[in-house]
Amino acid sequence: DTLINQIAAGEVVERPASVVKELVENALDAGARRVDIDLEEGGVRLIRIRDDGGGIPGNELPLAIQRHATSKIASLDDLEGVSTLGFRGEALPSIASVSRFAMTSRCEGSEHGTRLEVDGGRVGELRPHPHPRGTTVEVRELFFNVPARRKFLRAERTELGHIEEWLRQLALARPDVELRVAHNGRPSRRWKGEGDLLTGLRLNEALGEDFARNALAVDHAAAGLRLHGWIARPTYNRASADQQYLYVNGRSIRDRSVAHAVKQAYSDVLFHGRQPAYVLFLETDPRRVDVNVHPAKHEVRFRDARLIHDFVFRTLHEALAETRA
Ligand code: ADP
Ligand code: MG
Repeated sequence: DTLINQIAAGEVVERPASVVKELVENALDAGARRVDIDLEEGGVRLIRIRDDGGGIPGNELPLAIQRHATSKIASLDDLEGVSTLGFRGEALPSIASVSRFAMTSRCEGSEHGTRLEVDGGRVGELRPHPHPRGTTVEVRELFFNVPARRKFLRAERTELGHIEEWLRQLALARPDVELRVAHNGRPSRRWKGEGDLLTGLRLNEALGEDFARNALAVDHAAAGLRLHGWIARPTYNRASADQQYLYVNGRSIRDRSVAHAVKQAYSDVLFHGRQPAYVLFLETDPRRVDVNVHPAKHEVRFRDARLIHDFVFRTLHEALAETRA
């Protein structure tokens, strides 16, 4: 079983940033309002994620680290309309098989917290452990038992950079959640959970004042689709291929067809060949997207890709054309 989990980990856990992604997504799925992220040595030595979400009953901890155990969907039909970030029940067993792992949790109404340790896939005993409501997951010495993977880890700064980039993606999508990051014992980043109204502020924090000042706000809905967010005006001068954020139903994804539609609209109206900077959220009936395309969930498949492409293109084309008029 440990071997199977380690093989699955090859797809889900590439580096510390993928662990942070999976664990923070779990915290958000559990309804957390605040997530504390402690890192040591770029996350290679330690990743500790603590949330104030709903927690798990102690006796369900062993289930949480079992393969394909997810509390988020009960049937294939549910997968059709999945609205949580997780659904494969793969992350925790994968991570626990390639690290020294511990999960401590307490849910409302429990008298005490419970802790379960897993060492390179070897599951320990459930023990009572003090913990406020919510969950803490600790991942130490990532890939300590998989030297071939450990070899591919990069310098502390590089791994930290990947984590911060992922957190930026997340922070843009969830301005209502407070995120605090500490690295090697020092606070390194704090995203205040200011709520939707101040998304502009978060935009500022994430992409810089220059983008926030020069961004055109977009919000358009039609035919059960909605596209909202920001795209850079021509006055924004930064080379911006690395400032392209696309979310589908709140999930940060890469999609060639949508990226193409954005670029096409941008270069049609404004600058041919220039890369637009953007933060765009596409909302659609979850039944019209398949999120179960890749274990790391970086991609989705649209039922009607053409329709989506044209909707994105037309929406942005119109919005940008107005700025020129
Ligand atoms: P998935 O997220 O796909 O369901 P995971 O392996 O990431 O699978 O997590 C397994 C299960 O553990 C989840 O379905 C959830 O029930 C529970 N769980 C994981 N992290 C948390 C958390 N931070 N708070 C509450 N429950 C959690
Ligand atoms: Mg998960």
